[in-house]
Amino acid sequence: MPRKKGQHPQEFDEPKLRTFLEDVIEYVELIASTKFDAYFSYTATFSCEKCGHSIVRNSELLDEETIVECQNEQCNASYITHFDNDAFRFEPYFITLDCKNCDQRAQFDANTFLKLKTNETTTFACNGCDTRYLVRWTLEYGPESDALGQEK
Ligand SMILES: [Zn+2]
Ligand SMILES: [Zn+2]
Repeated sequence: MPRKKGQHPQEFDEPKLRTFLEDVIEYVELIASTKFDAYFSYTATFSCEKCGHSIVRNSELLDEETIVECQNEQCNASYITHFDNDAFRFEPYFITLDCKNCDQRAQFDANTFLKLKTNETTTFACNGCDTRYLVRWTLEYGPESDALGQEK
């Protein structure tokens, strides 16, 4: 059909298109890295509890306690796999820190810390006593006799 003059193709919703394309790329990469005929029978798919992004993995590559990261770069969620009753279960992966002052327990998405670069810091405040903490990803060294990292 000839197009009427002045009729423009629908404008793209860029963020949506981008998300869609990212999903497609993810999917293609996954297929490319998997035996194609095995792909459909061996995927484990679930939605990220934090951002709703769907997370697809080749279940043949999953094991008990595999860490699976949300593929949305904006999202810090990651999951630990558990295999029960012939199916994978994805448990949110948290790091738990106890306040050294009042023993109040705080839970964080593991990637809040694991994604830090060397020497990068992040802070948090204890919910119980407001003590402020600084978390830094460091490589340390010292005499073995100082029992590095062993706090009393
Ligand atoms: Zn997510
Ligand atoms: Zn505290």
